[in-house]
Amino acid sequence: MAFDLTDNVHHADHGRVQQLEHFQQPFVAVPPGDTALEDMADVPRVSASTAQGLADHYLHEVAPIYGIDAAMLPGNGRADSLTGPESDTGRSRLELADEKEILGTTVVSYQQKYGSLPVWEAGVSVTIQPGPMRVTASQSSVQGEVLLPEESLTAGQYGPEAITPAVLVSLLGVQSAPTLNATPCRLVYQYDPDRRFDPEARAATGERLEEVPPTLSLPPVPGGIAPQEFRVVTEVLFTLPVPGHPALNWRAFVDAATGAVLYLRALTACATGMVFRTDPLTAGGAAPAPAPTDPAATLNPFRSTVLLEGLAVASPQQLSGDFVKLVDTAPPVAVPPNTPSPAGNFFFDAPAREFAAVNAYHHCDWLFRQMAGMGFNLSTYFDGTVFPVPVDAVAFNDQVNARAPGNATGTGSGGFEFGLAGAPFPAVSIAADRRVVLHEFGHTLLWDSVHSPNFGFAHSAGDGLAAVFMDPESSLRTDPVKRFQTFPWILPDRNHGRDVATGWAWGGVNDIGGYSSEQILSTTHFRLYRSLGGDSENLDQRRLAARQTMYLIFRAIGSLAGGPITPTPNPGVFTTALMNADIGTADFEGYLGGTHHKVIRWSFEKQGLFQPPGAPTPVTAPGAPPAVDVFIDDGRAGEYQFQPVHWETTEIWNRLAPNPGGGVHETPVVGLTNHAYVRIRNRGSQPATNVVVRGYSANPGVGLSWPGDWKPMDIAQISVPGGVPAGGSAVVGPFRWRPQSIGHECMFMEVSANGDPSNIDPATFFPCAAGPTAEWRLVPFDNNLAQRNVAPVAGGGGLRGLLSSFVERRFTVRNPFDHQVRIVLKAFLPPFLAERGWTARLENGGNKAVFGLAAGESRPVAVTLRPGQDFTREDLLQAGAGVRIRVVATADGMTVGGMTYQLDPELVSAPREHADHQPIGLDHAEIDAAIRESELQGEVPATVGAGAAVAASGEGRAAGTTGGAAHHPNGDGEVGRILDRLGASEELRGRIQRVTLREVDVSIEMDTGHEPGAGNGGSAN
Ligand SMILES: [Zn+2]
Repeated sequence: MAFDLTDNVHHADHGRVQQLEHFQQPFVAVPPGDTALEDMADVPRVSASTAQGLADHYLHEVAPIYGIDAAMLPGNGRADSLTGPESDTGRSRLELADEKEILGTTVVSYQQKYGSLPVWEAGVSVTIQPGPMRVTASQSSVQGEVLLPEESLTAGQYGPEAITPAVLVSLLGVQSAPTLNATPCRLVYQYDPDRRFDPEARAATGERLEEVPPTLSLPPVPGGIAPQEFRVVTEVLFTLPVPGHPALNWRAFVDAATGAVLYLRALTACATGMVFRTDPLTAGGAAPAPAPTDPAATLNPFRSTVLLEGLAVASPQQLSGDFVKLVDTAPPVAVPPNTPSPAGNFFFDAPAREFAAVNAYHHCDWLFRQMAGMGFNLSTYFDGTVFPVPVDAVAFNDQVNARAPGNATGTGSGGFEFGLAGAPFPAVSIAADRRVVLHEFGHTLLWDSVHSPNFGFAHSAGDGLAAVFMDPESSLRTDPVKRFQTFPWILPDRNHGRDVATGWAWGGVNDIGGYSSEQILSTTHFRLYRSLGGDSENLDQRRLAARQTMYLIFRAIGSLAGGPITPTPNPGVFTTALMNADIGTADFEGYLGGTHHKVIRWSFEKQGLFQPPGAPTPVTAPGAPPAVDVFIDDGRAGEYQFQPVHWETTEIWNRLAPNPGGGVHETPVVGLTNHAYVRIRNRGSQPATNVVVRGYSANPGVGLSWPGDWKPMDIAQISVPGGVPAGGSAVVGPFRWRPQSIGHECMFMEVSANGDPSNIDPATFFPCAAGPTAEWRLVPFDNNLAQRNVAPVAGGGGLRGLLSSFVERRFTVRNPFDHQVRIVLKAFLPPFLAERGWTARLENGGNKAVFGLAAGESRPVAVTLRPGQDFTREDLLQAGAGVRIRVVATADGMTVGGMTYQLDPELVSAPREHADHQPIGLDHAEIDAAIRESELQGEVPATVGAGAAVAASGEGRAAGTTGGAAHHPNGDGEVGRILDRLGASEELRGRIQRVTLREVDVSIEMDTGHEPGAGNGGSAN
């Protein structure tokens, strides 16, 4: 019986049928002599005893459906020599190519050939199920339109014999010669400009977490080759490394006639696998966290699906790629898993051997990939290592252990070996604890640079990598104990919060090398990370701090001298290497070098390095600051603990007259000459000499960059005669300056001394000194620099006084990045105001404003307040100093600056900010408007509007405000105006006792019931 298209045959039809699926209408093979199926008259069937025999018959049946010319079918015997180009299909035919069986299902496939040349990705496959043997599906990619001149099939200047590495260099437009991996061969390819490069590589890098497939910048295709034209090409398989891929395999199709590369693919595969992204304890969400030896049902929920990147294409797919390959060398025996290609999913139970392998592949590969993504050239950094390195995920005879051995000559990585995270088996592999992999990677870094797995002064920097990298997203981050356990899940005794006073100083009783000193180092690294942003409330900022710290560690280790000398006899050598890593950074993802070296030194200083001469040993105290360390106190006494707000330095202040005024700040006045002052200090042990202070003002705003936005004051620099003694201070000024805009102020001060220049001093040659360097990357990390964005507002004049300070109050937000960012502004009110029902409004909206800003763009933002309860100067004095309104700006999650408005009890109304303008009075129309609006919102007890008793709705607050004599709402106050608009008559008004305003609904209570219709009051919207 014939095979017809019925409702039981499903076909994917895109202009031409490409796929048939017919589970309910199988095409059945009846073996010769089998009578069992003969009665089923309506079943399509054929006599066949083999899969190929069945497939051949089936193909003849479905050829018309697929639009395949019968002359192309196998067995129709159209020999090459007998055909001419007059037929539509020319010399195309289908040839049996493969038969494979997977778990009982057989797939027979046919390759389309044109003459003797295969047509790329053209053919038919037939899916056959057993019992009875029957076809249930098929697909076709046959190209019916291939037509090529006879002579082109064998001709061409760039045929297989012409392809050499040297020829490829020119055809690919690359610098170094590729290695040929197979004998090139000819095939027919339909050129498609949209598929010349891997479509995956077009994904915008900003939108993808994963790396896009690597590609090359090829010379253009000559205009004579038309899109969709069939061409005879030479397929070339070769190896060519590119950054991040030390041994990358490629496929290219070279046009045989012109040499143009019409198709290029990197042969990497991305399978998916399930791993522990973090150990279950760090991941959180279960109390208590499961143990490594718990059953799969308990552990499996902690798995995540990840991409396994860089896998070399193979069938079946192996866990072997650019950087690592899974092996089985050490006992116990456990062959690494593979999956059918290309559909491979490496999903396994958490306690399984295979899960160990998948974690080992992912976590080790990911670390190399991180480094490549940071811009490190891995072939030079790991110049002694042969990639991919071997990884045995099931080693150590199932003991709890891990190792990063060297290679045979001790000059590079020999890969990784992992045991279990808990014994006995079945248990989760220690490779599933990413913290352990990070520790081992510390050794991998050292092998290539110092030809040893260890520092001279400590085991390695691996604990620091684990501590820093895992912190930003850790559920333990807010736990004061567990946050500092480096391996909380399996080894809680290793700690990166070690106390100098209890022997964990550099030079302390526990500084004995090995794991002990490694904890001193990890504590030091963790302090650096916290200061750079690891203690931020913003996840993005913590991630950036972790990435920067890891980058500095990678870079510092890579810069150490190799053997045979002991490259790091003491921590000082590594401190210097880290500081050099900073100042040598031209630009790491927008971070310009030179901004971090003082924080690095401080991190070691706080851990007991840099002891003053004659200090007692063993060390139990932090070290000494630099001999000369001039600074402006931003509240940290010259130190570098994390500071979320970097613009509130009040040791910079302004005066209207040229006298320091005891440090009391006066609001800068536009149109007048103002006088800036700063107090500088010296926390060093030596006198600071040749001390110079420079003053800058900035056109209003947040997100300011050095040097473009910092304008030198009219007196730009003042030398301090006699310098500053050790531990001393000096007030420096006046810096004459003329503010340009009202509504804000922004003053920067920079102090330098012999031996202690600021990071923006051009004599340092630091990249950050040349800039542009954003204030948020600069000011918090250099105690020689300080910024004041603190404006006094009236706190002594109650509700109207404070409101007067926010009439015309605005500032500018700038985008200091070189790309578009998402700005989030948030206003934070002090409890003093929040408890009284005050709220802030940004851009006339709520206390939060969100908008995008293009690179370098800026935008003015209005700040206003919606009043709550009134307050007195005495109330404010009782609340203590530091009652401040803060507006904080983040750009893509980074705090880039802010404005602070300090309530000043000595100001009763808005300070004058412009010489030619009248100060804002307490009766300003906008103040009335703000109060009125609050009433309409029902937020304020109204004492406004002559002759009206207005009660706020909702809260009991209303009671107090309507107490006392009732007022008839006949006056010219707000209520009177509303009643006018409602058309209330004089007579009606005379009987009104009480008016309640709520949003825009007005309800009116009448005093008597003798006008029934009026009892429900009127309302207006
Ligand atoms: Zn180790």
